[in-house]
Amino acid sequence: MRVDKVAGLEQIKAEIEDLTASPLYEYRTANHYRPVPGEGDPDAKILFIGEAPGEKEAQSGRPFVGRAGKDLNALLEKNGLNRQDVFITNIVKDRPPANRAPSRAEVKLYTPFLVRQIRIIQPKLIATLGRFSMAFAISFFDLPAKGKKIGEVHGNEFAAKSSFGQLTVFPLYHPAAVFYNRKLESQLEADFSKLISLAKGS
Ligand code: URA
Repeated sequence: MRVDKVAGLEQIKAEIEDLTASPLYEYRTANHYRPVPGEGDPDAKILFIGEAPGEKEAQSGRPFVGRAGKDLNALLEKNGLNRQDVFITNIVKDRPPANRAPSRAEVKLYTPFLVRQIRIIQPKLIATLGRFSMAFAISFFDLPAKGKKIGEVHGNEFAAKSSFGQLTVFPLYHPAAVFYNRKLESQLEADFSKLISLAKGS
């Protein structure tokens, strides 16, 4: 099973590597950036989904290794986990110029890779980081949170049906949101420990 999972994830990585159709491909090569498919345990119970890679991520080819990543690591460690225990990815797998928000076309192009990753990993919990991945999960799993803002749904559990069974979607603030609004820090910490308790109980 695990061998199949690794092969499936490697296949996705190779396809993203060669994604010349992406509007971000030229920017990637011109800056000697790398695509950032995601990393972690293929059997992870928790899948974290962010927005898109920043500069540090595009330089290293690894998700959440910059400032937001340091916060994510600290939140995991505070709860007795590390990055190897979970899987971390993004909706968009290449860095948008100057960290702008991904365009609709970019989200549309990269979403099928994320969907395939979800089907391979088969997580029990999907933790969305920020509004882009929250919007993806609401729409993809048809959650009863349409039109809701992240401030209304963060820290709430949503039961979702998938092709591999029942799972829970758990929206979180993006760790970078805390840089701009320190008030969100304690909220993110509280939500995070709730997420980890859910994972331990599942
Ligand atoms: N922000 C994201 O959404 N993803 C990353 O990988 C890094 C920062």
